[in-house]
This record gives sequence, C-alpha cells and structure tokens, in this order.
Amino acid sequence: MIEFAEVAHGYGGSPLLAEMTVTLAPGSFHFLTGPSGAGKSTFLKLCYGELVPQAGRITRFGQSHDNMGRDDIARLRRRIGVVHQDCRFLDHLTLEENVALPLLVANRDADPAELRELMAWVGLSAQRESLPPSLSGGERQRAALARAVIMSPEMLLADEPTGNVDWDMSLRLLSLLVELNRMGTTILVATHDLNLIRAAKAQVPTRVIRIKDRRLHLAGAEL
Ligand code: ADP
Ligand code: ADP
Repeated sequence: MIEFAEVAHGYGGSPLLAEMTVTLAPGSFHFLTGPSGAGKSTFLKLCYGELVPQAGRITRFGQSHDNMGRDDIARLRRRIGVVHQDCRFLDHLTLEENVALPLLVANRDADPAELRELMAWVGLSAQRESLPPSLSGGERQRAALARAVIMSPEMLLADEPTGNVDWDMSLRLLSLLVELNRMGTTILVATHDLNLIRAAKAQVPTRVIRIKDRRLHLAGAEL
C-alpha cells in the first residue's frame, strides 16, 4: 500500500531520517514509536504526501511520489485518512459539521443517516451540535477519528491519538482502530505509549517500527 525505498528526509540542511526502507502492506496494523523529536510526525507526513522526500522513493498505491500531479494528490488525500495530533477543528462549526467537512471539500453531499451512524460509532451522538472548544480531549480525538474515516479511506494514519486522554479513553480509541483494521483498513499509529501497543497486540496482529538513531527498526519481542 505504501512502500519506502531508501528514503531520507531532514529540515534546513540537517538530516533527520535516513535509509528508510519499509512496506506498509494492505490490511496491516503498524505502530510507529520513538522519543519526542525522533521524526514520527515527519514519517507520517511523508506517508500522506504533505512532505516530499529529499532522497529515495515513496510508492503509494502503486504510484511513485515523483509522478504525482495535483489530481493525484487530491485522490491520495481521500484514500488516506489522517488524525492530526492537534485535531484542527473549525471552532465556529458544530462537531458534526466539522466531521462532515471532508465531504464538502470533495463536493459530495452528506447523507444525514450515515453521519448520525458515524457519530454514534465514536460515541458522540449527544455532542453532535456542540462546538469544539466545549469538548474534552477524548471527545475531540474521537471526532477527529470520525472525520478521518468519513471518506472510507483504505488507510488511516494517527499521530499520538491518545496523547491527551486517560487510559480508559485510550482503550476506547484503540478498540475503534482495531475495529477498522478488522474491516480491512490499513492502520499506522504514531505513539510513545508502550502500554497502548501491548493492549493492541492482545487484540490484533501488529508490527512496531521504532525510530532510533535516525533509522527505522522493526522492534522485536520486547514489546
Ligand atoms: P516527533 O513527531 O517524533 O516528535 P517530528 O517529526 O515532529 O518528531 O520532528 C522531528 C524533528 O524535526 C524535531 O526536532 C522538529 O523540531 C524538527 N522539525 C519538524 N518539522 C520541522 C519543520 N517544518 N522545520 C524544521 N524543523 C522541523
Ligand atoms: P509534532 O511533534 O506532532 O510535529 P510539533 O508541535 O513538534 O508537533 O510541531 C507542530 C508543527 O510545527 C508541525 O507541523 C511541525 O512540522 C512544525 N515544526 C516542528 N518543529 C519545527 C521547527 N523547529 N521549525 C519549524 N517548524 C517546526
């Protein structure tokens, strides 16, 4: 689904990540871990095309990164849903309107019944008309997840989705991700929460990519 071949990236002339060769296969569930500043967000941005690699090749859905026009990028954004770390809501729109925004952008009508069902799936039926600033961290994360999957993406990327929520809410978010994966969605979650990774491993086959010394390592049995 996404393949990295000898990819390198950095900022302002200083290298950050190098020699990245990894395949995220269809239907797989990967965690990406490593200390703050290691480059997890950068890796995710390379995956969904917000950053262009400085070296190497990234192939997404069979298409090389250096062979993509504007339309290809737009299509890619519909096939890969992203839960950003900071959620990025429009505070003057209701939660449900925020969740439906990707449809607006794609010029599609929201099906009210489907939207209701999606809000119920993430447990936010009672908050549909709420404004984002009034919500808790866990509610925001679940709404961000709903927004990321509203276009039925083949792949979902999440950047520290449990960064600001308690353990019970982390498990609740995880169960939604596991459910998506069981239905066939390819998942990549950046996190430094090892307990979350352990909890996931008890439910679905997962692989762990660790960033260490600017390189990707597939972690062994210690997790
Ligand atoms: P992580 O998600 O693991 O915390 P990031 O990918 O966000 O790591 O950042 C890795 C490093 O790259 C950090 O030192 C960060 O400050 C730096 N960095 C990230 N984005 C930029 C940018 N746009 N310009 C310059 N430096 C950046
Ligand atoms: P994250 O770890 O999720 O990237 P940050 O707060 O480190 O969160 O970064 C927020 C945004 O700022 C990101 O888009 C990142 O690329 C950018 N950024 C991070 N570090 C730098 C930096 N040193 N210079 C410029 N932009 C940066």
